[in-house]
Amino acid sequence: MKLTIPSNAEKILRILEKNGHEAYVVGGCVRDSVLGRNPDDWDITTSAEPAQVKALFRRTVDTGLQHGTVTVLMDKESYEVTTYRVDGDYEDGRHPKEVLFTSSLEEDLKRRDFTINAMAYHPDRGLVDLFHGMDDIREQVIRCVGSPMERFGEDALRILRAVRFSAQLGFSIEEETKNGICAMAPNLKFVSAERIQTELVKLLISPHPDYFRTAYETGLTRQFLPEFDACMETEQNTPHHCRTVGEHTLNSLLNIRADKVLRLTMLLHDIGKPAVKKTDGNGRDHFKTHGPRGEEMARTILRRLKFDNDTIAKVCRLILWHDARPLPEMAEVRRAVNRIGEDIFSLYLEVQKADMLAQSSYKRNEKTARLEGVARCYARILEERQCVSLKTLAVKGRDLIEAGYPPGPQIGEKLDQLLEHVLEFPEDNQKDVLLSLLI
Ligand code: ATP
Ligand code: MG
Repeated sequence: MKLTIPSNAEKILRILEKNGHEAYVVGGCVRDSVLGRNPDDWDITTSAEPAQVKALFRRTVDTGLQHGTVTVLMDKESYEVTTYRVDGDYEDGRHPKEVLFTSSLEEDLKRRDFTINAMAYHPDRGLVDLFHGMDDIREQVIRCVGSPMERFGEDALRILRAVRFSAQLGFSIEEETKNGICAMAPNLKFVSAERIQTELVKLLISPHPDYFRTAYETGLTRQFLPEFDACMETEQNTPHHCRTVGEHTLNSLLNIRADKVLRLTMLLHDIGKPAVKKTDGNGRDHFKTHGPRGEEMARTILRRLKFDNDTIAKVCRLILWHDARPLPEMAEVRRAVNRIGEDIFSLYLEVQKADMLAQSSYKRNEKTARLEGVARCYARILEERQCVSLKTLAVKGRDLIEAGYPPGPQIGEKLDQLLEHVLEFPEDNQKDVLLSLLI
């Protein structure tokens, strides 16, 4: 098998070899090239020790010397060059106690997580595939190198990586590997929130975000997102729905584009439902206030997973409003844009559409008509640059002070009143008109 590798990667391999070392490209980049995907980065594995690597290249960075990794800079590119290594005993389910260098490529490939990630390639010697990664690529399965229980026991992050690769590639998880995941799920407690976050986001923005179901089925969500287990266990006896809250959620992920904020919003948009569910005398379920409750819960969850404040703020605001249904009339929509926020209103429309498409077909035509009507009003608001917030109100606080109003909280109140008026009559957003209204 012939793979195309970047010329600088090949140059690094040749320099290492000319100096008596072995060197291969390895891991994710080999997997991705075989699959016809564009690798993000090209990692190199070599028998040379870090000091030897550093001596051979002019520009290097000590990325992780204790793990044997030196970054080699070439032109504007950078390559991680890592010494063949064996991971010593793992004491905490996440970090090897020590890392031992080895001169054997086989040993180095053996420590890698999955067969598809344990292949090396050299332009002259071709593919080194000691664990049948190619067979697993052909059969589209994620399979541990060696015993799954042992491998997951050594490093619990691999549990999440298995599910994430399965979603990214559309692969299934081989049975024994899956059993290992189920058995070792409690070890997720050794994985930091930041790592969980990274894997969760990669899974969610993948082509198969609904494979998040596997995380539930294997008992992983119980460890890091038990709120989702409650959703999977909550039926919705209402004509609007035909699935449990959890299945509706998974389906909604498929109806929205692969954007971090949007996919997180869909994952958590109904997270408040189990807590507020009420069944009426006719046996019909209601979920009043699940928006605000969901917002509150989403904030707790996203903080727990150490998401950044900007992401948390946007996702929470979208969840709070996801079920708001303004009528498709100009003034109504201007008020909705004002309430929900100019910055996320178009995202809110995408969320509503994805949510609707994951519901039953009950009143689908009416729901679609309203949503499209709102979108048309919103397009016109943008086109005509209508004022929907204080930011573009034609009068500012200082205009009121100049017009003789005493500084203080009343200024804010007056501005709010003027904005109220402008939301109803956008053509009045002119300084003289607004000031004349005040008298
Ligand atoms: P991606 O870059 O898309 O996350 P990748 O497979 O390149 O996928 P990296 O985290 O970049 O993943 O790691 C590069 C390689 O290092 C992997 O292909 C695998 O061989 C090995 N590896 C990474 N993390 C682990 C781990 N936790 N346990 C064992 N091997 C690992
Ligand atoms: Mg990689």
